[in-house]
Amino acid sequence: MTHHKLTLPQKTCPVCQRPFTWRKKWANNWESVKYCSVRCAQRKGQS
Ligand SMILES: [Zn+2]
Repeated sequence: MTHHKLTLPQKTCPVCQRPFTWRKKWANNWESVKYCSVRCAQRKGQS
C-alpha cells in the first residue's frame, strides 16, 4: 500500500488561539467542535 501521512483535520481554538487536531472522541461531532478542550469552552463564558 502507498504510504501517506495522517492528515487529520485541524481547527483553531478561539479561546487559546491554538490549533488542535481531530480526535477520535470527536468523530461524531467534529463539525460542532469549536474549542480545544472543555476548559476553553468554559473559559469562553468568563471574562
Ligand atoms: Zn483552547
